[in-house]
Amino acid sequence: MQVTILGSGTCIPQWRRSAPAVVVRVQEELMLVDCGAGTLRRLSEAGIDYRGPHLLFLTHFHLDHIADLAAWLFALHNTRELPPGWGLEVLGPKGTTALVNRLRAAHQPWLQELSFQLAVHELGNETRHFAGWQLSTMAVRHGSVALGLRVQVQGRAVAISGDTDYCPAVVELCRDADLAILECSTPDEQKVDGHLTPTLAGRIAQEAGCKKLVLTHLYPPCDQTDILSPCRKQFAGEIVVAEDMMTFVV
Ligand SMILES: [Zn+2]
Ligand SMILES: [Zn+2]
Repeated sequence: MQVTILGSGTCIPQWRRSAPAVVVRVQEELMLVDCGAGTLRRLSEAGIDYRGPHLLFLTHFHLDHIADLAAWLFALHNTRELPPGWGLEVLGPKGTTALVNRLRAAHQPWLQELSFQLAVHELGNETRHFAGWQLSTMAVRHGSVALGLRVQVQGRAVAISGDTDYCPAVVELCRDADLAILECSTPDEQKVDGHLTPTLAGRIAQEAGCKKLVLTHLYPPCDQTDILSPCRKQFAGEIVVAEDMMTFVV
């Protein structure tokens, strides 16, 4: 498995940190997880063609996680060289179908009749089986409907929290994971309800027995503070503060 952080930021524009997006290469599949503003550009920067991912997983519907979706659909629709039968499957929590329909309605007629197959599936607490790998999803605590996810292949596991506060579900998703990509929105002193801090992210990784922890979804104060030290007090494993375009091989 190969995991690239395309965007380690938030809704706040920062030159160094694009809005949230992660691309996971698992078996022959490329799955994009979230699609905030700037994702399409970062994807091409990572050397991945925008026609590469056939799966898009939306953790939730806050704008920093979905803003490039309509732009991506428009780009695909305007691509003449899409192979016949080319399709995109959008996975997300309850409400994903309505969101996609509303986006298409807002941008009609351009997104009304698409030149490719588009499928949308809403997920809950479940495991989906793909060719040789599994995707598990659980509702996490974010104040709006939100899912965390876990990708498993050949005994390897990557967990991605999406936006969440501390909750048993995110610990479960991270259980014994080789790599846990957890949001870390603010330093401990500026804790916001529905989001994690370095201390809480470290606590989750420790309780779950993760091997490596990546802190992402970093608001600007995180870059003005030592977020590693409080996290280290909680978690004995390796900790990485995410930067855009960081790649991890699991
Ligand atoms: Zn967010
Ligand atoms: Zn959010």
